[in-house]
Amino acid sequence: MSMSVLSDREVYEDPLDVMDEIDALKQEHDATILAHYYVDGDIQDIADFNGDSLKLARDATQASSSTIVFCGVHFMAESAKILNPEKRVLLPDLLAGCSLAESCTADKLAEFQARLHDEGRDFYTVAYINTSAAVKSLCDWIVTSGNAREIIDRVPEDREILFVPDQHLGRYLSQVTGREMILWPGACMVHEIFSLQDLLRAKRRTAGSVVLAHPECPQNILEVADVVGGTELMRRHVMSVEQPTSFLVATEPLMIHPLRKAAPRHEYISVPGIMASSGETCACNRCPHMARNTLTKVRDCLKFGSPEITWQPYFDQAQAVLQRSLLQPTSTKRDA
Ligand code: SF4
Repeated sequence: MSMSVLSDREVYEDPLDVMDEIDALKQEHDATILAHYYVDGDIQDIADFNGDSLKLARDATQASSSTIVFCGVHFMAESAKILNPEKRVLLPDLLAGCSLAESCTADKLAEFQARLHDEGRDFYTVAYINTSAAVKSLCDWIVTSGNAREIIDRVPEDREILFVPDQHLGRYLSQVTGREMILWPGACMVHEIFSLQDLLRAKRRTAGSVVLAHPECPQNILEVADVVGGTELMRRHVMSVEQPTSFLVATEPLMIHPLRKAAPRHEYISVPGIMASSGETCACNRCPHMARNTLTKVRDCLKFGSPEITWQPYFDQAQAVLQRSLLQPTSTKRDA
C-alpha cells in the first residue's frame, strides 16, 4: 500500500477504513468506480475497471450502475458523461486537469481552423482524446494512443490532417501511417521530461533490458525504445513475454502498478525525468493532475455527490464525434 504525505490541514485516515467506507457508499449510491492506470495504486485496486482512456471510455458504457466515479482527469470524466448522458458522473477533484489538453483551447483551435480554411486548405481535424469536450466538438475524429492508427486510416487520402494537441504523438503517427500532418505544438509535461542520457545509462546498466515508451514521448526517446505504444499495449506486451525481463518504462511511473500486477515475473524500472529549471535528474515525473485523485476524495465525492460533471451545450456535438470514433466498428468510414 502506498504512503501519502499529508498537508497541514489534512487529518490522517487509515486507508483501509476509507476503502471500507467507499465500498459501502458504492452500494448505497449504486456506483461504479473507473480508475486510470496513472492514479494511485490503492485507487486502482478498489476500482471496478482500470484502463487507459479508450478502455475506460468503453467500460463506462458497459457499467450498469446509475453513478460513475471517474478517477482520472477532467477531460476523461467529460467523455464518460458524454457517452453516458443518463448517468451521474463524479470526478473526485474538479481541478484534476491536463496540461496537454489545456495547450489547445476551443477558441485557439477555432481561430486556427478558420485561418486554414481561409487559405483554402481542405483538412480533417483529428484530436487526441486528451482535449476538452469543447475542443472535441470542433473535431472530425478523436483518437487515443490505443486506436490512433486505425482512425487515421479512416481519413480519406485526399484530405490533409490537422492533428491536435500532442505534437509528439502526431509526429509518431505521421511516421507510422505515412500521412503528413499539420501538428499543433502541444506536449504532455510528464512525457516531455524524460532524460535520454539517463535512459541510455540505465539501459547499459541493465543487461537485456527492454525500453517501453509511450508515443507522447519526444522523438529522441522513441528512437531508442524497443516497444512504442499506449498503456494498454504496454500491458499486453509484458503479459506476452514469458522470459523474466527488465523493462525500462517511459511513461507515468504509476503505470508500473498495473504492469506488475499483470506480469509479476518481470522487473520494472521507471525512466527518470529531468528538471527543466536546473537540468538535474529527478524521479518526480508523476502527473500532478492524476495525483489529485486520493482515496479520501473518492470517498467524499461519493458521500456528497459532488463534484459532478454536468451536461454542457457543446456536449451534443462532442457526443457525435466520440461515438463514431470510439464506439463504432473500425470498418465504418465516415465519408470515404
Ligand atoms: S500524464 Fe500528461 S497527458 Fe496525461 S493527464 Fe497528465 S499531463 Fe495530461
